Amino acid sequence: MTCVGLAKTYPGGVQALRPIDVTFAEGQTTALVGPSGCGKSTLLRLVAGLEQPSAGEVRIAGLPPAGQARQGALAVAFQDPSLLPWLSVRGNVALARKLARQPADPVLVEDLIGLVGLDGFADTRPAALSGGMRQRAAIARALATRPRILLLDEPFGAVDELTRQQLARDLPPLWQPRGTTTLLVTHSVPEAVMLSDRVLVLSPRPARIMADIAVPLQRP
Ligand code: ADP
Ligand code: ADP
Repeated sequence: MTCVGLAKTYPGGVQALRPIDVTFAEGQTTALVGPSGCGKSTLLRLVAGLEQPSAGEVRIAGLPPAGQARQGALAVAFQDPSLLPWLSVRGNVALARKLARQPADPVLVEDLIGLVGLDGFADTRPAALSGGMRQRAAIARALATRPRILLLDEPFGAVDELTRQQLARDLPPLWQPRGTTTLLVTHSVPEAVMLSDRVLVLSPRPARIMADIAVPLQRP
């Protein structure tokens, strides 16, 4: 996946992203870190096809981003997990496959719910969960279509520190062996180092890439 001259100026005139050129290798996890408001979420929304670039483009093998998302090949878990309130955790996770027109896979759905630590909450509706639990449900939902591209925007923002550490340990094995290309926006440098193969440090707004660091650590 490659961003070519990708730039964004919002209609009000806020320049969020300078033209950037960057390639994300297949199967790699890249963390995006940088000051609040610098344009990290903008970059992710552009890659997701949720926002139109002012210039440049995102090149993904095959379909453009919006088409990839419809097929479940591109999935997002954002800060504010927009779970459907009338469905249980299980219903929300299973729906992702239905919307992508993938066959039902109850075993995968239960596995994912367990892996994000929501065993026992599969029948619970979002309103009865804590913020952190809702975020974990959103991560399970994002993984349900076995996406090739996974976009995570502060996915652990409301998750307590212990659960966060547990997720950082348990989640990457879910996407790494499948060659999923993952972009992770995070405020936490330890989290970036633990979860990713590469860290991009962005400048204050309008964002440009200030540093591009390979993470040499061998993860457990
Ligand atoms: P980050 O994720 O790094 O905190 P964002 O990408 O959310 O930064 O925002 C970058 C800049 O763009 C900020 O100044 C923000 O206020 C502005 N911005 C974000 N979304 C919009 C929008 N929909 N309309 C106008 N300005 C926006
Ligand atoms: P928070 O968002 O408050 O940090 P977490 O997602 O970290 O919460 O959850 C911490 C733990 O608290 C959960 O794993 C769960 O055991 C318990 N918990 C939180 N909310 C509920 C709830 N509504 N019902 C039952 N247990 C809950």
